Amino acid sequence: MSGESSSEGSGASSGEGKGVTMRVEVDVPKCVASGQCVMIAPDVFDQREEDGIVVLLDEQPAPELHADVRESAVVCPAAAIRVIEK
Ligand code: SF4
Repeated sequence: MSGESSSEGSGASSGEGKGVTMRVEVDVPKCVASGQCVMIAPDVFDQREEDGIVVLLDEQPAPELHADVRESAVVCPAAAIRVIEK
C-alpha cells in the first residue's frame, strides 16, 4: 500500500549529514596522554601542558569533524574517548 506521506521534509537545503548530532566525552582518568586524538582532531582535542592529559575542546563538533573524532576514539590506546551520535 502506498503509505501516507511519511517522508518528512526532503529538505530544500542540501547537505547530508546535517541534523546528525555528535557528542564527545572523554574519560580523563583513563587517558594515558598518548596524544593520538590531538594529532588526528586538533580542533576537538588538546592536551594539558603539564602532563599531556587530554582536554576536550569541543563537545559537539561540527559534521566535518565527525570522521576525525570517530577515528580518534578508535585509535585511543586507553579507550578514553566516547562518541555518541544520534
Ligand atoms: S588518544 Fe586517548 S590516551 Fe591519547 S591523549 Fe587522547 S584521550 Fe588520552
